[in-house]
Amino acid sequence: MQDFQSILDNIHKAARKQTAKGKVADYIPELSAVDPDKFGMTVLDSTKNVHSTGDAKENFSIQSISKVLALSMAMSHVGEKLWERVGVEPSGDPFNHLSLLEMENGIPRNPLINAGAIIVCDILVSRLENPTSAFLEYIRDIAGDSTIVYDEKVAKSEKRTGFRNYAAANLIKSFGNLENDVETVLDFYFHSCSLSMSCEQLVKVFYIFMNRGKCLRNNAHLTLSQVKRINAIMLTCGFYDEAGEFAFEVGLPGKSGVGGGIVALLPNKFCVATWAPGLNEKGNSKLGMWALEKLTTETGLSIF
Ligand code: GLN
Repeated sequence: MQDFQSILDNIHKAARKQTAKGKVADYIPELSAVDPDKFGMTVLDSTKNVHSTGDAKENFSIQSISKVLALSMAMSHVGEKLWERVGVEPSGDPFNHLSLLEMENGIPRNPLINAGAIIVCDILVSRLENPTSAFLEYIRDIAGDSTIVYDEKVAKSEKRTGFRNYAAANLIKSFGNLENDVETVLDFYFHSCSLSMSCEQLVKVFYIFMNRGKCLRNNAHLTLSQVKRINAIMLTCGFYDEAGEFAFEVGLPGKSGVGGGIVALLPNKFCVATWAPGLNEKGNSKLGMWALEKLTTETGLSIF
């Protein structure tokens, strides 16, 4: 077994010396107030041991990382039918791209770009009485942690400034690929992005993707085939137009968010989360990517 704790402590020490930290996202006003010097990292290994360093217990806005969780919940409701409404190809688009040109006949290229995630939210809105609270319950149940919450301020801040998401949802609606009204679907979408979690909580949720669909308490949430599909999509579509670079440097399926979080995993071995709010020009956490590259290089563990 790897000595994850000392590897993480060394990465944290080296991270403190890094001067190029990237830029905190400011297009969602509420996110711009976050301290750019935060750095946290957690590994949850296959023996269920947790190894943490830095600000790993501090909550942050998980943003687009939530798209994987909405996808997972929607797949467990509708199965393969989901792929009639959204594609599985990488988009090669920047994180805040309107993605309108990435749609054919109202079918977005994949469920991890905003347009695709809006459709996934629509699927859940159609099937759940109260999607916002059901989604939160789903995540709390997987993590075995009832303290996970939405950050209402972030949700409101996004709603006020989410003009591109309104545009995308309206365009999808015009193609007939949105079953519910735009306002309801986006209200749920903004809430899902506003989930507030720490690195230690994120690894507990994403454990199901490294553990063949079963959570820490061994309850099955996804089939093996569903886990394979979700991990494949994370690998090819999880980092906007930097998915190739992430596979090249880090070599794990994962997902980033503009709150500066990244979560990644090696099936059957470990799940890792990082948080460093400064983003690179592609919208991915600069120090997070750097730290994950160090982790897979130093442990020699990656899917390749
Ligand atoms: N809520 C953000 C948005 O819709 C998600 C952005 C992200 O993390 N890529 O713009």
